[in-house]
Formats: sequence, C-alpha cells, structure tokens
Amino acid sequence: MINKLIAQTIPFFPKKFVWIFSKKYIAGETIEEAILASKQLNDKNIAVTIDLLGEFIKNIEEAKENKDNYLNIIEQFEANKVRGNYSLKPTSFGLLIDKEVCFNYIREIVAKAAEYNNFIRIDMEDSACVDLEIELYRRLKAEFPKNVGLVVQAYLRRTQSDLEKLMDIHTEETPLNYRLCKGIYVEPKEIAFKDPKKVNEAYLKNLEFLLTNKVFVGIATHDRKLVEGAYQIIKKNNIPKNQFEFQMLYGVTPELRKEILDNGYSMRVYVPYGKDWFGYSTRRLKENPKMASHIIKSLFVRG
Ligand SMILES: Cc1cc2nc3c(=O)[nH]c(=O)nc-3n(C[C@H](O)[C@H](O)[C@H](O)COP(=O)(O)OP(=O)(O)OC[C@H]3O[C@@H](n4cnc5c(N)ncnc54)[C@H](O)[C@@H]3O)c2cc1C
Repeated sequence: MINKLIAQTIPFFPKKFVWIFSKKYIAGETIEEAILASKQLNDKNIAVTIDLLGEFIKNIEEAKENKDNYLNIIEQFEANKVRGNYSLKPTSFGLLIDKEVCFNYIREIVAKAAEYNNFIRIDMEDSACVDLEIELYRRLKAEFPKNVGLVVQAYLRRTQSDLEKLMDIHTEETPLNYRLCKGIYVEPKEIAFKDPKKVNEAYLKNLEFLLTNKVFVGIATHDRKLVEGAYQIIKKNNIPKNQFEFQMLYGVTPELRKEILDNGYSMRVYVPYGKDWFGYSTRRLKENPKMASHIIKSLFVRG
C-alpha cells in the first residue's frame, strides 16, 4: 500500500531529489559516464551489457533516432575496448507501430555488432510483445546465428512451452542464447504465476531444461535461493562453465555478485544509462510498486 503510494507520487518529486536514489541504479546520462562505469566493472572481472534508456516512442522517426544512437554506442564502446555486449527493447524501435521497420532497424544494429563479433540481447517486454519478440529473434537468428539472443520470463505460464518450441532453431554449433529472468511487468494471473514460490519453481525448471539441452543461459537474478538452485543444477548435470553466466542489474546486491565471482563463475552486469533515466525510473516504479521499498532503502543505505 505504502509502496504503491510512493510509486504514484514519485513522478511529482523534484528531478534532483529522485536522482539521489536513482543514481545507484543508473550509470549516468552520457555515453562517457556509461563507458567509465563499464570499465570500472571490467576492472573487477565483470562483463557488461549496455542499455540506452528510452521512453515510449510515439512515432517511427523516434525509432530511427534510437537506431542511430545504438549504432553510435556500438562504435564508441568497441573503440574503448569495453568488455561487453548490448541490450535493447524492441518497442523503442517501433515494434508496436510498424514491426517491419522495427525488424529492419534492429537488423542493422545486430549487423553492426556482428562486424565486431559482438552480440545484441533482445530484452523481453510485457506480454503484448512476447509473440512479436520471439518472431523477431527467430528471424534475426536465422541471419546472425551467433550475434543475437533473447530474454525469457519464468513468471509466464507459456514460457516452458515457448522454450521447447524454439529448440527447432538450436544447433550445437550455434546454440540458442537466452537470458532467463523472473519477469518485471505486472501481468494477470491467467497468464503469469503470482505466487513467488511458483515463479521460482518455474525458473529452476526452465533453467534445468535449457542447460541440459546445451543452450547458453544468462542466469539473471539477485535471488539467493535461485542462485543456489542454479549451483545445484550446474553441479548435478556437470554443466561446463562456458555454457552460462550470472547476470545482475547495475547497483543491485553487490555482495551476492562478489560471492558468485569468488566462486569462480562469470558475471555480467546490465548497465542502463541515458537522459531518460527519470522517466525510466518512475515508469518502472509504476509497473512494479514493490521497487519502492528498494528505493527508500537506498535513500538511507549508501555505497
Ligand atoms: C540482468 C537482468 C536483466 C533483466 N532483463 C529483464 C527483461 O528483459 N525483461 C524483464 O521482464 N525483466 C528483466 N529483468 C528483471 C527481472 O525479471 C526481475 O524482475 C528482477 O531481476 C527481480 O527479480 P530477482 O530474480 O532479482 O528476484 P527478487 O526476489 O525480486 O529479488 C531478490 C532480492 O534482490 C534484491 N533486488 C532485486 N531487485 C532489486 C532492485 N531493483 N533494487 C534493489 N534490490 C533489488 C532484493 O534484495 C530482493 O530481495 C532483468 C533482470 C536482470 C538481473
């Protein structure tokens, strides 16, 4: 209840005030700041995935602008030898306005990443986008088998079945590449598990299915129970270390992150940056008011 109230009122707080707590989770407004934050993570043996924050777009011209921005990001991060890849949200490229234009823009970005032997991760958005984003992945993977991956959300009841169907485009030479997360959007109970225990069960079921089928997985979670569940699956099935990595969000649970690294596993951090941090922070809060308690905590606990 309190979380919901805070989430609703935060958009009316002064921007400078909101930055005090948002800055923990956002690498900065400029590309230089994002490169610096990424290099600092690289120095700790952590790879990154870069995300340019964007608001909902209203027309296809804005999608072109986002595409041009991503092409520039790739050039600059590669020139600075950042150890990382790139994440993007298809709605920022017009997915819900014109899916063909969106496909062509994202194709251009994946082709640019492929020039550097690098990789683009398609973030998964709310349930209205799932079919379209799977279709996008299928098309792009056919042309760039090593340079594109998708996110899947364990909270969706359909996910296990989606994973099974998508095995038709998996080969040992060019394996499927997913980031597995719980899912951040508020979805109706008809299509998504609501009980946190059920979400965790689904997560570990999806994970075991993928790892035992030789699919590459970015194990994206800050939930200690899931990290421990993943360790068990990895040990039980003798999964080689080059078939997975752990992934976390910038600024979240750095202690658990360090423990995973100390255990000898690979880690990648999702680094969001950009001028749209205010809209992004407040929108995420409205989507998931539970985040308010993290934000309040970060007002008092620094570091
Ligand atoms: C690398 C990465 C990429 C992601 N990409 C997507 C995506 O494409 N689509 C999508 O729907 N979702 C995405 N997510 C979000 C994900 O779906 C979850 O909503 C989010 O990670 C919280 O779930 P959790 O597994 O960390 O477990 P939770 O049970 O939510 O969190 C476990 C603990 O982690 C801490 N924690 C978690 N989140 C935060 C936070 N923001 N601030 C402070 N502490 C926190 C808390 O201590 C909490 O108790 C991504 C997450 C990660 C890590």
